[in-house]
Amino acid sequence: MKAEIITIGDELLIGQTIDTNSAWLGQTLGSVGIQIVRKTAVSDNKQAIFNALDSSLSQVSLVIITGGLGPTRDDITKHSLVEYFGGSYRTDQVVLAHLEELFAKRGRKMMEVNKMQAELPERCQTLFNKVGTAPGMWFEDHRGIVISLPGVPNEVQWITQHEIIPRIQEQFSLKSREHRTLLCLETPESLLSKHLESFEDRLPPSYSLAYLPQFNSIRLRLSQVVQDTDGDLGMEHWFQELQNELGSLCFGIGDKTAAEFVAEFALNRQIQLVGAESCTGGYTTNQLIQVPGMSAAIPGSIIAYSNQVKMDILGVNPQTLESHGAVSLEVGLEMAIGAIRMFNADFAFSLTGIAGPSGGSAEKPVGTVVLNLVSTQRPNSIDGIVETDGLYIHQKMKQIPGNRLQFMQRASNSVFALFQPWF
Ligand code: AMP
Ligand code: MG
Repeated sequence: MKAEIITIGDELLIGQTIDTNSAWLGQTLGSVGIQIVRKTAVSDNKQAIFNALDSSLSQVSLVIITGGLGPTRDDITKHSLVEYFGGSYRTDQVVLAHLEELFAKRGRKMMEVNKMQAELPERCQTLFNKVGTAPGMWFEDHRGIVISLPGVPNEVQWITQHEIIPRIQEQFSLKSREHRTLLCLETPESLLSKHLESFEDRLPPSYSLAYLPQFNSIRLRLSQVVQDTDGDLGMEHWFQELQNELGSLCFGIGDKTAAEFVAEFALNRQIQLVGAESCTGGYTTNQLIQVPGMSAAIPGSIIAYSNQVKMDILGVNPQTLESHGAVSLEVGLEMAIGAIRMFNADFAFSLTGIAGPSGGSAEKPVGTVVLNLVSTQRPNSIDGIVETDGLYIHQKMKQIPGNRLQFMQRASNSVFALFQPWF
C-alpha cells in the first residue's frame, strides 16, 4: 500500500524544527507494509494545505498529515479539513472527558480554547490521543483516506501505534516488505561492494542491497522489494548467501551497534570484560555499559590518560614508555595486560592514540591509534593473533580521520572489531 505524508508548520520550513515525524512514520509504516512514496512540507496556510491534499490524493489513496492541531490561532489544519471535506463540527464526549481528566491531573483550569479541542469535524472518525490534548482525525471519501495528526512526535507515535496501524490492518491486507540487516566493521564500502559483486549479480531483481555507512562500520540491509515472485528462493536463502559470502567480514547479524554485539557476546558467554582507555577517556566502556545488565560482564575499566597512571595503576614499564612512546603497540599491550591481571578478567581491551587536533608528530600523526585486545580464551581463528604466556593477543595500529568525537567513535568501533575471532 502506498501513502504520502504532508507535514504542516511554518517552523518546519524555516528550519526551526526538524521534521522527525516523517522519518519515524516512514520507518514504522514501512515495517507493516505501507510504503511512503512522497513527503511534502507546507506552511500553516489553508490554500497550501488544499493544494498539497489535491496533489497527494491524485497519486495515492492514503495521506497522513502531521501538525497544526494546537489550540492556538496559528494552527489551522482542523478548520482547513472541515472546509476541504465539508460539514460542520460536533463535540466528542470521549475527548472532552479525557481533556477534563488531563487538566484535573495537572491541576490546571481548562480554558475555552482547550475545550475547543474536543470540537471535531462531523465528517471524521476520532483517533484517540491518550498522551496529549489534540486527537487525530480520520477522513474518508471516494478518493481515499486522509489522517490528520498533531505535530508533537510522541503523540504522532502513540496514535499511529494504537489507533492507526490496527485500523489499517483491519481494513486492508498488507504485505510487509521484509528487511534483514547485518553489520560489517573496518571494511571500506568500496571494498565491500567489490567483494559482493557476484552476490549482487546473482540477487534477483525483487531484492535490493543497501549499504549504510557510519563511522567505520557499514550496515548492510537486504530488502525484499516485491513479494511472492515465482521461483523465489526466499529472504532466508539470500540473507544466508550474503552471510556466507561475507564470512568473517560480517561482524554481527541484526540491527545492533558494534558495542551491542560485543555486549551481547560478553553477557551470553558470561565473560568478565575490562578496559584500559587512554585517548578515549572511558568512551568505549561507556558505549558498552549503555546495554542494560552489563554490570554482570564489566566490573570496571581504567582511564589511564597520563603516563603516570599507565605506570602506577596499570603497571606499564617506564622503559617501554621511554623507548616506544605512549602511542605504541608495546605500551598498548602492557596496558591491556595490566588491566586483565588487575581485574582477573577474561578479556581486556586498551586504546592509546592521538585524538588531535594537535599533538601529532611526523612518525605518529594526529589520528594514530593503537588498539589491543587480550584474552585468556582461545579464539575460533588464530589468524593474526599471537599467543604468549597463556594470553591471546589481537592488536592493531591505524589512522583515524575526523574530529575528537569522531576519533573516539571510530576508535571504539575498531577495538570492538578485534573481538570478531572470538564470536
Ligand atoms: P503543532 O501540532 O503544529 O502545534 O506542533 C506541535 C509541536 O510539534 C511543535 O513544537 C512542532 O515543533 C512539533 N512538530 C510539528 N511538526 C513536526 C514534525 N514534522 N517533526 C517533528 N516535530 C514536529
Ligand atoms: Mg504548528
